[in-house]
Amino acid sequence: LNEADKNLIQNSIRDVHDFPKEGIVFKDITTLLNNKEAFKTLMNHLEERYKSYNLDYICGIDSRGFIFGAALADRLGIGFVPVRKKGKLPSTTVCEKYELEYGYDEVEIHLDAFPKKKPNVLLIDDLIATGGTATAASKLIKKIDANLLEACFILNLTFLNGVKKVEEHTKVYAVLDI
Ligand code: AMP
Repeated sequence: LNEADKNLIQNSIRDVHDFPKEGIVFKDITTLLNNKEAFKTLMNHLEERYKSYNLDYICGIDSRGFIFGAALADRLGIGFVPVRKKGKLPSTTVCEKYELEYGYDEVEIHLDAFPKKKPNVLLIDDLIATGGTATAASKLIKKIDANLLEACFILNLTFLNGVKKVEEHTKVYAVLDI
């Protein structure tokens, strides 16, 4: 990704201050998605990076990871699998709890999410902050016997050091470090 393309993508993401609560700067990717040049440039880059990985499935994290994950899966001609917040998936699931600032949350994956045995999987989400969500998602993917090759994020909030946490479970790639 050259500097101009990086800037195009980065500048298309909007900062929304004090959302969902005071003191948080929310990185809003809706302004990337509605910018056809920025979205296409990002997807071209991801396709180029991952076409040689021999992936079988892309796993996207609820909910913005679904958008990039499904678009990338289609470009690579492979299947997409959602990791969802608790209570959303209809069939038998495996579940993983993770800690939030206050309390806990849980993510789930269908037990039979990967029809192929020992598949090569890429995990994707829009953003990594503390790394808690992606760590839990990584554990789920491994629990159901998949080969997790990498976790990919569009944005890495470097000051929170989430990458270090996820790297205990898989390799990490971020398009933009901020
Ligand atoms: P974490 O588990 O702390 O790494 O948080 C990552 C998840 O929360 C991702 O699914 C992000 O979409 C979301 N998230 C956390 N912080 C932000 C932020 N500042 N702006 C946008 N999304 C965020």
